[in-house]
Amino acid sequence: MAEFLDGKTISQKIKEGLKKEVEEFKKNGIVPKLAVIMIGDDPSSKIYVRNKSIACEQLGIEYEEYLLEENTTMKELLELIDKLNKDSSVNGILLQSPIPKGLDINEAFKSIDPKKDVDGFNPINVGKLCLGQDSFISCTPYGIIKLLEEYGIQIEGKDAVVVGRSNIVGKPMMQCLLNKNATVTICHSKTIKLERVTKKADILVVAVGKPKFITADMVKEGAIVVDVGINREEDGKICGDVDFEEVSKVAAYITPVPGGVGPMTIAMLMNNIVKAAKMQN
Ligand code: NAP
Repeated sequence: MAEFLDGKTISQKIKEGLKKEVEEFKKNGIVPKLAVIMIGDDPSSKIYVRNKSIACEQLGIEYEEYLLEENTTMKELLELIDKLNKDSSVNGILLQSPIPKGLDINEAFKSIDPKKDVDGFNPINVGKLCLGQDSFISCTPYGIIKLLEEYGIQIEGKDAVVVGRSNIVGKPMMQCLLNKNATVTICHSKTIKLERVTKKADILVVAVGKPKFITADMVKEGAIVVDVGINREEDGKICGDVDFEEVSKVAAYITPVPGGVGPMTIAMLMNNIVKAAKMQN
């Protein structure tokens, strides 16, 4: 039976360390601040944003929320980002995705000051990650690396497979694993015979957005399985992209959903805000 990679406990530990750093900042009159922009009223986004605000509160980080109407124009969005870029009291800016279809998310990410880009989605930070330079790393992949490291799991030399190639999870995940010297394969909806690839993985990271998509027959005995998915089942329960019950019988380590990758993502966002505050002061 697989051992759980307990993101909830590890994230708590990381946040406690960060809280102390924030207290030190405050002694010097510095209060780290995050500004969050949310457009429209996507129910999942509301939950994510709320969790981020709770974490900020726990750590003593100031939190400011900008809730924009669904019909916000690109010009209005860019003006707000520009205002926050120029506001020296704001250390981190986060644009919650998804945003309404008529708006260009890439343009928006590009306009966030790279020094305040705590989500790591600005092309400058994405490029730095690719070049192996210090940057803001996208919080979910960064959290996954931290979680593996906390459990003493060696990444170097391992065959790692990432299922999903989104800009916010799959691609930066691939890069983070590569930077840690894994041999990485990335799969997507056009991959033929997915199980042929997943079955070879020592480390399997799944970010597809389909409930229980990865079944036990797709996983190598003794693999480390990281489930990024957050899906709501018909009965309202949250489940991942991995069939947790069955895959647990095959894997050596597995992340639960909830309580695995989700809390690590928030902890790394907090880490990036503290890092931004440090850089800017
Ligand atoms: P996304 O943008 O929808 O990307 C999904 C990826 O899965 C795409 O690359 C897609 O391939 C691939 N895919 C779809 N069907 C597939 C199939 N049959 N075989 C192989 N690959 C397939 O999703 P995302 O934003 O990366 O999010 C993925 C999941 O993670 C969602 O459940 C989301 O809610 C969750 N999430 C969780 C956290 C967290 O903190 N825990 C953070 C972010 C996201 P194509 O590129 O070919 O279309």
